Parts: sequence; C-alpha cells; structure tokens
Amino acid sequence: MELIDTHCHLEAEAFADDMPAVLSQARAAGVTGLVAVGVSPTDFPDQCRAIRQARTAGLSAWPAFGTHPWWSDRVDVATALAGLDRQWESADPPVAVGEIGLDFARSGLDVEAQNALFTAQIDWAAERDLPVILHERQSADRLLYWLRRRRHAGGVVHGFTGSRQQAEQFIEQGFFLGVGGAITHQGAHRVHRMLRELPLESLVLETDAPNQPGHAHRGERNLPGYLPENLTALASLRNLAEGELLAQIERNVGRLFKGRLRYNAAGPPSTHPDSRNDLP
Ligand SMILES: [Zn+2]
Repeated sequence: MELIDTHCHLEAEAFADDMPAVLSQARAAGVTGLVAVGVSPTDFPDQCRAIRQARTAGLSAWPAFGTHPWWSDRVDVATALAGLDRQWESADPPVAVGEIGLDFARSGLDVEAQNALFTAQIDWAAERDLPVILHERQSADRLLYWLRRRRHAGGVVHGFTGSRQQAEQFIEQGFFLGVGGAITHQGAHRVHRMLRELPLESLVLETDAPNQPGHAHRGERNLPGYLPENLTALASLRNLAEGELLAQIERNVGRLFKGRLRYNAAGPPSTHPDSRNDLP
C-alpha cells in the first residue's frame, strides 16, 4: 500500500544538513511518497533539488508550487504567477498549486495583498484543472467566500483549525482535510471530535514537516517519517484497522490529485514487485 505525505516542506532550512538521513528514515518508516509543497518562487529550485534527492532515496516525490500568504508582503502577483508559469513549463510540473491561502492570525500582513495573491493563484490553478493546497488560519470563512465565487478544481485544507461546520462547507466545495500531527496531541479534544465524525472519504494524511510536530516530538523538528504516527492515531480514533484506513486514504489521495501521482522513485517499487504505475 502507498503511504503518502501530502504536505511537507523539503526545501526547509531544517533539512539542509541531513536530507539523506531524513529521507531514508521516511522510507524505513514505511512512507512511500511525498508531496513537497512550495512557499515562494525563490525557493522553487531548492525544492526541485530536494525532490530529486527523495526519488534517489527510493521515495516517489511530486512538487506543488505556490506563494504562501506569509510571503504576500514580499512577492507580488506578477512574480508569483511567473514562478508558476516557469514550473508548469518545466520537466517536473506541479501536481497542485500550494501552499496558498489566507492567514488572519499573523500580524503585519495586508489583507488586500493576501486576497490578491490568493485569488490570482486559485484562478491560475483552475485554468489548468490543478487542485490547490490551502493554508488556513482564522480565515476559513473568507477562503470559503472566495471558493464559492470562483471556478476551482478542489484541493485540500492543510492543518485545518476551523469548526466542524466550516469543515463541512469545505467538503461541499470538493475539498479534503489534511490530518497532521495535531491529531496526536492528547488535549486536542475538539480536533479529535471533528476527526471522529467527518466523512473518511474526505481525509488525507500530512506532516507539514519540519513544522507542526506531533505529541511524541514536541520541541523538535517534524519529519515526513513521522507520518505513520498520524495514521495510527486516526485509526484508533475511528476504531479501524490501519490497513483498512490506509486503503481508504489511498483512494482519497488519488482523487485529491486527480490521478497525477505517478510512481517516480528511482528503482522499482519495493512494496509491489509486480509494479504499478499509478499511485495510488
Ligand atoms: Zn505547510
């Protein structure tokens, strides 16, 4: 079975010194693929390099490119779209646009600049039938407002912090919710209640590594190789065998990325010797 981290930041400074070890730990932990999510056009080359390293390490890896709202004070719309155009024309085009979105919890970011950057990238993605990977911080209602008014190809809300009602509205808009390290925190009762009740068909797994470490790794950097801990936590919340849950998650990931995740690790797939080309 395929276990795919749908959200990590491989180009992050935190991985600069020991990337091969980080990747081989992920492989050893049973992770088979990852989506490396971008934050700013200046980082795209580092991201591409990290993706090539991941493939060499035996992982499938795919890029998502986008300009994150935290960069909305430094990257204008034209620069963001030029960055996307460049990657779209490259040999390794994105499987999604992200990380994009709105952040109303962080001070010092201009709301209009965020809206402009977000809507331009949503439109760019829609024109290419690409899903989007959304950053949401106290901005769920505003994101929903935009999604209802624009053409889009669905996507995933990563690190979702909103309410059950907001989650359902995203699902109505054709979105998945990313389940990250927050599920492993014992005190996260609201998150647990929500993840117990939301449709399983709408959940995917993510780490956001090196950010948002789970309970067992508080105060440390997060790793893609910690993804199985989120699977275990979700299986126990839902009272499911891990294999059964993973089979559903695999189907969800396939739908989220519209069949674009093709096996691309260096060497043959280690889990299926008779080889499949489509993931998942
Ligand atoms: Zn992220």
